[in-house]
Amino acid sequence: MSCVIGLTGGIASGKSTVSTMLLSMGFPVIDADIIAKKVVEIGEQPYLQIIDSFGEEIVNEDKSINRAKLGSIIFHDEDKRKQLNEIVHPAVRKRMIKEKEHYLAEGEKAVFLDIPLLFESNLTHLVDKTMLVFVDEEIQVQRLMARNDLSLNEARARISSQMPLMSKVHLADAVINNNGTTEHTQQQLIEILKEWNIITYV
Ligand code: ADP
Repeated sequence: MSCVIGLTGGIASGKSTVSTMLLSMGFPVIDADIIAKKVVEIGEQPYLQIIDSFGEEIVNEDKSINRAKLGSIIFHDEDKRKQLNEIVHPAVRKRMIKEKEHYLAEGEKAVFLDIPLLFESNLTHLVDKTMLVFVDEEIQVQRLMARNDLSLNEARARISSQMPLMSKVHLADAVINNNGTTEHTQQQLIEILKEWNIITYV
């Protein structure tokens, strides 16, 4: 029996850190952010739809989508944001499902879907189980400031624009507390994988 697991968290909660651990253990991890970038590459269907909807002025000289420009348009215009999501989200879902099916057909025992907005976007139907990487907000702020070179206020603003991690805790099948060392995080990850019969060693 194989298992599809949704990995989620908040900004700077440690999701990439856990995802790297999973990759080094040999598990396939399908990253929603990477796929979202891939589906808007030149020649892809969503790429063409975006130009149809937003006009030629949205592309750079090399014809690639100007993501910064697109970002600032949708930041100021709710309808445009919806329009973009209606183009990109189904394409991302479709590609994630395809990659998941590919790994399952190859006989992988577990496949991880790394989806930052797993709960917010109601994507839990894509997975069998959900795993949340949690940190206390003060640690989250400190790590975000250090990683992205942000001021305290900038870091706080980014965190408070997201669903609080605390309200995701009761939605997840398993929670990794990433307040401590990465070794402690890895130990918790291994314990969860053992409990779910995904690994039997260690
Ligand atoms: P996310 O992918 O959720 O945004 P990251 O995995 O990039 O978060 O972690 C955010 C930052 O915190 C990174 O700079 C990372 O190296 C650091 N970090 C993550 N987990 C720990 C930990 N347990 N101890 C110390 N630093 C950590």
